[in-house]
Amino acid sequence: MPDAFDVVVIGAGPAGYPAAIRAAQNGLTVACIDAWKNRDGSNAFGGTCLNAGCIPSKALLESSELYLRANSEFAVHGIHVSGVELDLAAMQKRRAGIVHTMTGGVAALLKAAGATAIHGTARLRPGRLVEVTSADGAQSEIKARHVILASGSVPTELKALPFDHRFILDSWDALELASVPRKLIVIGAGVIGLELGSVWRRLGAEVMVLEALEKFLAIADQQLALEAMRHFKKQGLDIRLGAKVTGALVAEGSVSVQYQDGSGAHSLSADQVIVAVGRRPYSADLFSADSGVGLDARGFIQVDEQCRTGAENVWAVGDCVRGPMLAHKGKEEGIAVADRIAGRYAHVNYEVIPSVIYTAPEIAWVGKTEEQLKADGISYKSGVFPFAASGRARAMQAAAGFAKILAASDTDTILGVHIIGPLAGELIAEATLAMEFQASAEDLQRTIHAHPTLAEALHEAALAVDRRAIDNINR
Ligand SMILES: Cc1cc2nc3c(=O)[nH]c(=O)nc-3n(C[C@H](O)[C@H](O)[C@H](O)COP(=O)(O)OP(=O)(O)OC[C@H]3O[C@@H](n4cnc5c(N)ncnc54)[C@H](O)[C@@H]3O)c2cc1C
Repeated sequence: MPDAFDVVVIGAGPAGYPAAIRAAQNGLTVACIDAWKNRDGSNAFGGTCLNAGCIPSKALLESSELYLRANSEFAVHGIHVSGVELDLAAMQKRRAGIVHTMTGGVAALLKAAGATAIHGTARLRPGRLVEVTSADGAQSEIKARHVILASGSVPTELKALPFDHRFILDSWDALELASVPRKLIVIGAGVIGLELGSVWRRLGAEVMVLEALEKFLAIADQQLALEAMRHFKKQGLDIRLGAKVTGALVAEGSVSVQYQDGSGAHSLSADQVIVAVGRRPYSADLFSADSGVGLDARGFIQVDEQCRTGAENVWAVGDCVRGPMLAHKGKEEGIAVADRIAGRYAHVNYEVIPSVIYTAPEIAWVGKTEEQLKADGISYKSGVFPFAASGRARAMQAAAGFAKILAASDTDTILGVHIIGPLAGELIAEATLAMEFQASAEDLQRTIHAHPTLAEALHEAALAVDRRAIDNINR
């Protein structure tokens, strides 16, 4: 292996590996070093997203939804099934297989691009010297013209409930359970808590969700949040808001969790607890104190708008820097930095980053919420189209929810799109593209959408902005 590269990327998650591939596409010599270790001791590329995040969670969400539908929905279609049985081991094997294929794919992509992929731990020293301890224990030193830090994030622990990985679980543990808990407490009603809570609820667990905030899904448009809460309650998720966890006790094979809310102190017991209160940036032993790289008060690597750290030609991208902790945000930053290094134009539009919660109904949004527009004093128009009026959604037995478009009163520019309903995470791509091109509601109105599709809901929501919807009564 060479001891000098144009670019050394530390971390091969969704921020790091695309940076390495793009740098190689730009004709630069690249090494990409990743320390990920699976619980069986094996190494893998792909970071949190592929190994313990986005992909395994979506695999289980899909399987658990099918199990639920086979049990409760097929009869509506006139399909009578009996003896539907859960084979969790097979479900988990499928999840693990998908992860294995995808992480192997990252290794293949790096290789095909001509990047040198290394399983090992890296540490940056001044002058862009990178110390590498390979997975086999061998030590080496690499000199880099540029270094991209993409070390990601780890689950936040609660002081009162340190992870023991048996009873008090992090999100990774919660994806690899070998049996369905009878009773499960999820702490945190954020994206990860809701997705994991949904999986185990569908598979039969009694699920209680404790959320410290009084508002449900405070980051989302509140019309969407209210609709989501209604559906989650119907599904049997026992969501308790304003519930601040104060302690927990593990004894005799179960956990009791104490929490405080407006009405006083309470205690709940369960077989297991998932702590999903957020993630914190990870940079343990990533760089020496004299490397010139700094951290902010919350532990994020300090960067400017273009992802430059305080050290010359050292960049940082993804979850370890400010901004939403999302795989696609990290990917765009990684690609942009690799292009900047090669002297090419690059831009990340932080105003137009879609968010998706893969529950049922699915939730997705991009741009501003109504609450944000009101707080900013921006005058807007709103158009809403319910999936109940969509023929395709009805045919899919998935008519819950709505699509909502917010557009500027004066210019008609789309300012935010909020969807709760079938395949909302796919539908939001059209809205994201529209916003990236600063489209107006009228632009969407004049765009032909195939019939019958779910995407027509966006078309009709755009028409509803001007009270010109065709397939719904304009109010
Ligand atoms: C359960 C769950 C579900 C999620 N679902 C979604 C989703 O649906 N959509 C979405 O956009 N996001 C989702 N996320 C968030 C997403 O996983 C992260 O935003 C994303 O992985 C961040 O990418 P990254 O490359 O910055 O960091 P990571 O993916 O965390 O990768 C960082 C890598 O750097 C390595 N590393 C760290 N330090 C060193 C070092 N010193 N030397 C070598 N290697 C090092 C780590 O081992 C790791 O492999 C989910 C997260 C979880 C936990």
